[in-house]
Amino acid sequence: MKIEVLTLFPDMFSAVMSESMMWKARERGLLDFQVHNIRDYAENKQRKVDDSPYGGGGGMILKADVLARAIEAVKPDDDAPVILLSPQGRVLTHRVAAELSQQPHLILVCGHYEGVDERARQVAISDEISIGDYVLTGGELAALVLIDAVVRLIPGVLGAEGAQHRDSHADGLLEGPHYTRPPEFRGLGVPAVLTSGHHAEVDRWRRRQALKRTWERRPDLLETAPLSEEDRAYLARLRGEAEA
Ligand code: SAM
Repeated sequence: MKIEVLTLFPDMFSAVMSESMMWKARERGLLDFQVHNIRDYAENKQRKVDDSPYGGGGGMILKADVLARAIEAVKPDDDAPVILLSPQGRVLTHRVAAELSQQPHLILVCGHYEGVDERARQVAISDEISIGDYVLTGGELAALVLIDAVVRLIPGVLGAEGAQHRDSHADGLLEGPHYTRPPEFRGLGVPAVLTSGHHAEVDRWRRRQALKRTWERRPDLLETAPLSEEDRAYLARLRGEAEA
């Protein structure tokens, strides 16, 4: 997969993209990552990329001509989505990340200041994604969040040990608790089933823990998660116990 980012702050990407799984994805040839500085596409002498808003009001607006020129320069003839990170976009979820992870090429555009001129959005942006209902100073952190969520879903990035199919939200539920050595910590033990060597029992326990945790913390997710008859019976039992 190729991911290209357009930003006014290219240095913000170097640390995150040079560590851990993002670096491994690049090193293994699974991710081609490139950053472009929007300022390089400013044609005026001062390399000015923003201007004050028509109609007054505070803040500066990223100029349509500079931004469109930058996007058009990096966009080849493929139909790669050009995604503006924006608090007004569709919200990033596991489903959106999975959808984007199927794309061979993504172009991410980071806004800054008060936002971008509407006309740049109209002529050069094909999608808008928000990482949540709050406002950041710029799109760089949002782009990094999106990149991490997408790249870890590319086959081969996490390796077999990743078990990302069990991660929270992958199957509509939250994941249950984890334990590792030592077997006892400050008087707290490990559920016996996990050391029983009984794989089918471990899977059943994990499924039930996921259901329980989701019911306790995010019951809204249970409305859309795919559930078996056994899952429903277990949830009914949990509800019954809570009411008793
Ligand atoms: N005035 C804009 C508004 O009210 O919608 C907010 C502009 S914000 C200060 C500057 C830039 O940060 C945005 O253009 C966008 O690229 C990025 N940004 C801010 N919040 C974001 C969020 N929740 N998700 C994704 N990007 C965000």
